[in-house]
Amino acid sequence: MDSFENDIKSRTLLELTGEMEAMGEKTFRARQLYDWMHRKLARSFDEMTNLPKDLRERLSSKYSYTSHTLVDRRISGQDGTEKYLFGLQDGNVVESVLMRYHFGNSVCISSQVGCRMGCSFCASTIGGLTRNLLPSEMLDQVYSIQRLTGERVTHVVVMGTGEPLDNYDGLVRFVRLLSDENGLHLSQRNITVSTCGLPDGIHKLADEHFQITLALSLHAPSQEKRQRLMPVARKYELGEVLDACRYYFDRTGRRMTFEYSLVSGVNDSLEDARALAALLEGFPCHINLIPVNPVRERTYVAPETNRVIAFKNKLEKYGKTCCTIRREMGRDIGGACGQLRKGYMENRQP
Ligand code: SAH
Repeated sequence: MDSFENDIKSRTLLELTGEMEAMGEKTFRARQLYDWMHRKLARSFDEMTNLPKDLRERLSSKYSYTSHTLVDRRISGQDGTEKYLFGLQDGNVVESVLMRYHFGNSVCISSQVGCRMGCSFCASTIGGLTRNLLPSEMLDQVYSIQRLTGERVTHVVVMGTGEPLDNYDGLVRFVRLLSDENGLHLSQRNITVSTCGLPDGIHKLADEHFQITLALSLHAPSQEKRQRLMPVARKYELGEVLDACRYYFDRTGRRMTFEYSLVSGVNDSLEDARALAALLEGFPCHINLIPVNPVRERTYVAPETNRVIAFKNKLEKYGKTCCTIRREMGRDIGGACGQLRKGYMENRQP
């Protein structure tokens, strides 16, 4: 028994097969059902025309069937990036982003409604955590975008609102369903999960035998600086977090990504760059520099471009050659990291 028991789109094909047996149905019905949900991306039992009506009725009396409504869709005039606000059945909303790259279409999804990690530069955490998303509600973000655009989603990054490892069971089930060969069959190598650094969760994830990429939100080269930006760092020492990352690499052989949001005057000095290079010395990794996106409620500003480039050059001088500056996308359509949802919630309030 788990909390996804009655949510049909969160069940694996194996579980559905057992369920059909228990209901006295032929087991091939499970495959048909799964195909409707995860390949044809059906939005309700009603669409499943090759399933007998009485079976559809029995299923809908026993199970919930999640599906999103489209609340807002903004398309960037600059680079084709699209931001979506989806309504969930309980009235909450989640934000997802589609980015078009030369290598394919990448969707950034949320893993929770709100977040309780409290990072000081992030808009998603301002109202705290409302609830975890179900695996199906994470899938629905990908499925809805694929349906709406008619274009195949090739990459998924779990980097929207929420801390994925704070919704561990939901995340793991989501990865299994998304990469399942009977569903959309996304390559696990094209799935990235970004975490603020929960060591227990990183250890557990390392043991799942996944081929996904793990990204750590590092944001500072020392424990002292990190805990000023990220309250979660007070609970877990940087050394402990990096040990977990090393364990992840040893177990999976997957090169990790470290994310570093550059905040002017806080973590963007050349001394910070040197310390960062020293911290990650010998660690096979990729470093992603992200000039901080301004959030209305905060005073943080991004460094000037030449300072960002100087930071990168310094890192490279100390041997961290796999370092990129994140290209800003969709600037013209409603800011970053939870700001679309936040704006919507504020306007909705009486
Ligand atoms: N909770 C996870 C995933 C969600 S945040 C995590 O912490 O990794 C995705 C990334 O965006 C994280 O690296 C986060 O620190 C970063 N981020 C959040 N707000 C930002 C902002 N205003 N500017 C730049 N990066 C931000």
